Amino acid sequence: MPAIQEALARDLGRNYVETSILELGNSLGDAKTVYDNVSKWAKPDSIPWQLNWFAMGPKVRKEPKGVALIIFPFNYPVWLSLGPLAGAIAAGCAVVLKPSELTPAYSALIAELIPKYLDPELYTVVNGAVPQSTKLLELPWDHILYTGGGRVARIVLTAAAKTLTPVSTELGGKSPVVIDSNCDLKVVGKRLMWGKTANAGQTCVAPDYVLVEKSFAPALVQACKDALKEFYPDGAEKSDSFSHMISAGHFDRLKGLIDNTKGEIVYGGGANKDTLFIEPTLVLGVDANDSLMSEELFGPVLPIVLVKDVDEAIDFINARDHPLALYVFSKSSAFKAKVLDNTQSGAALVNDVLVHALVEGFPFGGIGPSGSGAHKGKFGFDMFTHLRPTLDSPSWVEDAHELPLPSLHAKARNIEWMMVPSLPARPSGLPLVGGGKTANRWGVWLLIAAAAAGVGLIRARRSA
Ligand code: NAD
Repeated sequence: MPAIQEALARDLGRNYVETSILELGNSLGDAKTVYDNVSKWAKPDSIPWQLNWFAMGPKVRKEPKGVALIIFPFNYPVWLSLGPLAGAIAAGCAVVLKPSELTPAYSALIAELIPKYLDPELYTVVNGAVPQSTKLLELPWDHILYTGGGRVARIVLTAAAKTLTPVSTELGGKSPVVIDSNCDLKVVGKRLMWGKTANAGQTCVAPDYVLVEKSFAPALVQACKDALKEFYPDGAEKSDSFSHMISAGHFDRLKGLIDNTKGEIVYGGGANKDTLFIEPTLVLGVDANDSLMSEELFGPVLPIVLVKDVDEAIDFINARDHPLALYVFSKSSAFKAKVLDNTQSGAALVNDVLVHALVEGFPFGGIGPSGSGAHKGKFGFDMFTHLRPTLDSPSWVEDAHELPLPSLHAKARNIEWMMVPSLPARPSGLPLVGGGKTANRWGVWLLIAAAAAGVGLIRARRSA
């Protein structure tokens, strides 16, 4: 474990404790869940009993897909390699791991450790950059798991299309945070700033930007400043608990976005290229066309977008790609429900950030442009497992089996419907349009309107 912590301290300047909690604990948790449950998951599944098919003993076998390629990014390389690897091993797949060229210490370490502990015939690491990845992608695979950004995902999917290789994508995007003025402000400040500064914001589910009402924004900014003061009393640059940007390229990209913002930098803004340091930075009054809204930030910068109300916040989110995570801070059940019921995202957390990635039993994945497929624990096993339906049809079912044969079509006329399931009867009453509650409410209004019309009619007749 210290070797891994040391490697990530070298690659990312990351504190050992952060690596333990966010990566090692998560990877070991995944491995343990898989180890404890694989014999149960790998058992064939029965299907619901059906008169037509029970005699054939239908079962769904769990079989390895075959040889898998796992391409993973720099930011959480331990969890994003060892977590899915555990699922793939449990499923019975052979695996090639392709680490990021941006984490040379971890990539070298894993290349040394994997053959020491796993059969090198079945599990191997291929290090390198674009040329090596390109070569790997020319090969036919039985499954590819690609974790990284959308730009490279398009390259991977295009290459995989040539060999019809199935691909799961774990991508990123701009994960929004909606903040209600009715919230526990101190908790919001701490959790939001933790999510934004862990790994210097280089987290796929980091809060990317905030949506908040204008009148509440100053209080929110103060809560964030208070939290940062508590985290880094002498400033983040001097702290040994604050990571640096992974590369000069990523530093320049984020610095450029900060330099071009039209928002007001109300905290931070400092940077040092020599140490790849970017200060935790709060930017107030950022609009939809700002540089900071043009791409996933992947760094410790938080744009604050001012909105009129929660409806505007929801419209803002829905006008963009479905995010990998969506966060809501509120004490109001109605506010929380409104945001969750009217948006889509890979995951949705209320009054917290990031921690869903650590919860055993949760799938981890996106939706649409933030990814397809999910891993972690059982979901990693499922990703690399082929569900193979099987049955063993005995001769004594032949009488029934002959029904579809052309020679028996005449005889089978009128009884062929026995083989075709009937649909449930149409429900009586008003159709449920837009969900039960709304429809019922419409039903009540219709009844009231009909009653009022009836009363009106009777009165009109009486007075005539
Ligand atoms: P990246 O897309 O630059 O690289 C990811 C991997 O792709 C690396 O292994 C890299 O070597 C490889 N690669 C790079 N160019 C390639 C090419 N032309 N052909 C084939 N492979 C190539 O991503 P990154 O900068 O390392 O990571 C950041 C991105 O990853 C962010 O968008 C983040 O949100 C996302 N991410 C997603 C998850 C998730 O689970 N959904 C987790 C972590 C990071």
